[in-house]
Amino acid sequence: MAGSSEDNRKGAYIVRRPMIQLPDTTKWAGIERFGLDRLVDFSRLLPVNPQFDHPVVKLAVSDRGPVAPELRDCLAHGWYLDRSDGVVTIPRTVLALAGGVVGAVAEQRSSGRDRHGRVPPSANVLVAAGLEKEPIISQAALALRDAACAVAGRRPRRLVAPWPGGRRWAAAFTHDLDLVAWWPLAAGVRLVELARKREFARAGQALAAGLGSIGRDPVWRGVQAVLQSEAGREVPSTWFLLCETPTLASILAGDVTYRPESRAVRRILRVLVDYRCEIALHGSFVTAEADSAFGRQRQRLDRLMGSETRGVRQHFLRMRPGLTHARMRAAGFRYDSTLGFSDRNGFRLGVADVTPVWNAADDAALEIEEGPFCWMDRALSKYQAIEDPRAWVDEGLDLAGRCRAVEGVWVGVWHPNVYPATGFPGSTGAFERLVSGIVAEEPFLGSLSEIVDWRTSRRRVRAQALAADGTVQAVSESGEGQAHRLEDPSGRACEPVRSPS
Ligand SMILES: [Zn+2]
Repeated sequence: MAGSSEDNRKGAYIVRRPMIQLPDTTKWAGIERFGLDRLVDFSRLLPVNPQFDHPVVKLAVSDRGPVAPELRDCLAHGWYLDRSDGVVTIPRTVLALAGGVVGAVAEQRSSGRDRHGRVPPSANVLVAAGLEKEPIISQAALALRDAACAVAGRRPRRLVAPWPGGRRWAAAFTHDLDLVAWWPLAAGVRLVELARKREFARAGQALAAGLGSIGRDPVWRGVQAVLQSEAGREVPSTWFLLCETPTLASILAGDVTYRPESRAVRRILRVLVDYRCEIALHGSFVTAEADSAFGRQRQRLDRLMGSETRGVRQHFLRMRPGLTHARMRAAGFRYDSTLGFSDRNGFRLGVADVTPVWNAADDAALEIEEGPFCWMDRALSKYQAIEDPRAWVDEGLDLAGRCRAVEGVWVGVWHPNVYPATGFPGSTGAFERLVSGIVAEEPFLGSLSEIVDWRTSRRRVRAQALAADGTVQAVSESGEGQAHRLEDPSGRACEPVRSPS
């Protein structure tokens, strides 16, 4: 039996999880449960239902272990995972630490603000420890999985296959439509920026390209260049659109610069719909402050598109994690994709994966998912004065390799106004190289909605029974009709997962 009585060792709880079991977690802090749920989810270990009647590997959670572990201690000690026959034990304090990283708890506690009202990157625990370049919590989940597989003995070993169609990782290309009207103004601002950085050759190229583009709508061309790089490779991208009426002040602040119903924007939207792109909301500055703004902007986009908007990302990444997410949730959004860094590339939540958002104020997870991005075109340009698009793309491809290594998802941001005629010589070829480099590694390519839907339903696959012939019967409890599959630890395809009847 997979019951808990045989394993109630002193100080250890038995978790009904990866062909493994749940303890009474009622006395746990919420963040400990959140940490446990996230590690199990990222590991792809297959949890068993209560009625599963066969010995399985058990995950035990211990009160012993380090009192207040640091991230570096966890890395040095293999996350304090303890292995014995059929049981993997992890300290509760380590679960709290992992939950705190994925839940951005330190950022939520910080009262710091940068000049855009954002939490400064220094308030992020991974930045403080110099660990933001690696998806360390995704890696911890793999260590948990390895430990569970290593102690399994003759017990059944099954994982849930990571992505649709046998793909081993995923990639999402996303675009923020910051600029449509007023492009000469933005191009002028960019020229000043280049001149200030003493990038005179680049400024000269940009000026020549800009002058050559007068009357030829470089923003439209920039959008088309992006779509041409993507469409030939069947990349379904996700576009974030500002949905507020611009004012002189909002234009000068670089906030809202276009009217979403304008002819130029409608033309862009038509071609995006033709290419089966997902359209989501780019929350303007006011959404970071005023309560009603998310609902108003979402409804405006719903009307414009004739469909329900599911995703959101904040313009300039203006948000207070948790707090702003709660307001996004209240406005009906299903996912956010704001949690990357503005001034560097890397993993702000320590994961290359989709996760529920933690709300520290309520000590509970919100019913909204985060699809954190790890790479943005201008992170190196704007804040580190690296102006060669080839260097940006080198880092994007490097991070994609790290996402692939943990079978996670790479989410990248490319602005269509990063285009030669609007101040970025060499950008079009660089984007082309980024897309082809990622596609060559055969990820599952999806819109953010598709990726979020897949991950939330994968999270709910459970083993129900073990048949006499050794096959595992599993069901997805979500009913979203996704074709999940089980596999063995070597990645060999095993049983299909049934949808709930
Ligand atoms: Zn933006």
